[in-house]
Amino acid sequence: MPIYDNHNRPITYLRLAVTDRCNLRCFYCMPENGVQYLPKKEILSFEEMERLVRLVAPLGIHKLRITGGEPFVRKELMPFLARLAAIPGIDAIHLTTNGVLTAPHVPALKALGIRSVNLSIDSLDEARFFEITRRNELKRVLKTLDALLEVQIPTKLNVVVMADKNDQDILPMVALTKDLPLEVRFIEEMPFNGEGQKQAALPWDYQRIIAHIRAHYPSLQKIADEPFSTAYHYAIDGHQGKIGVIAAFSRTFCGTCNRIRLTAQGTLETCLYDEGVLNIRDWMRQGASDEQLTEMLLKAFSNRPKDGFEAEAKRDLLNPVHESMSAIGG
Ligand code: SAM
Ligand code: SF4
Repeated sequence: MPIYDNHNRPITYLRLAVTDRCNLRCFYCMPENGVQYLPKKEILSFEEMERLVRLVAPLGIHKLRITGGEPFVRKELMPFLARLAAIPGIDAIHLTTNGVLTAPHVPALKALGIRSVNLSIDSLDEARFFEITRRNELKRVLKTLDALLEVQIPTKLNVVVMADKNDQDILPMVALTKDLPLEVRFIEEMPFNGEGQKQAALPWDYQRIIAHIRAHYPSLQKIADEPFSTAYHYAIDGHQGKIGVIAAFSRTFCGTCNRIRLTAQGTLETCLYDEGVLNIRDWMRQGASDEQLTEMLLKAFSNRPKDGFEAEAKRDLLNPVHESMSAIGG
């Protein structure tokens, strides 16, 4: 039986940011010079992360997503994934990656039974990819895509839609779904760019993205969303793949939110827009017992904000949403 929060939402899904470091510099996520990386000792060790997963699995958390930063810049990621996969109660491990270093690991990911991979790729055009990520790595990302398709790991492409940066990529991305069994997910840009720049309005919100696709693909039709999905799903006649649209800025999905997050430095977030509600790392390092940690986790679960707007409003006024997504994991 899962634990239900104070808004009667089951908590079944943990997103684990295994590092805050990254080999790209996506402008919507990090400033050009990168963010100030945390000293190594401030990052949770794999042993500490594994301990936390062993504590939450009996509480009904059975799904994990490994994210970051870029998970594959952390050494020894694969043995860590194997240890997580062996934890009783964990039945689905998913991964989000930028794909730069991922291709060589894809056969091992398949062998481990990784359920799906979200591959971030905001443009199929080399110049635009470079402009967005500030690195010339599109070829390696596409190699990862090929490798994932080859071993048939279910793959979703994450595309953050940004005015004047990649809006011309929306239709080519949709076109990929004609012959490939992919889900292409268009994500509203959120204000987590590590610089504190806040958009006044969002030029490409989910409604505009859907209208734009429908104008070119009139057969675009709404299909059922899986329970707890953050995306609205659509199909196009004759296309093998499907389309997802994530209203991450508009926050339309909070009512069914079943997820919690652990940042790379070991802070528990019960909402993407909160500023961290429990410093698990410090409690662990001060010698808290498993029972004490479980009690603290349960308390945090029973005190979740109703939605991302409430969480944002509760933030310290001196600490508006501005941190880099690389520490939170998306
Ligand atoms: N480095 C990996 C990657 O890029 O896939 C995993 C971490 S990244 C923070 C996870 C996801 O968050 C990516 O798909 C990325 O595009 C998305 N993301 C980062 N900053 C964002 C922002 N400001 N608004 C919307 N999505 C963002
Ligand atoms: Fe790195 Fe992912 Fe952030 Fe891009 S979105 S800078 S790949 S952590």
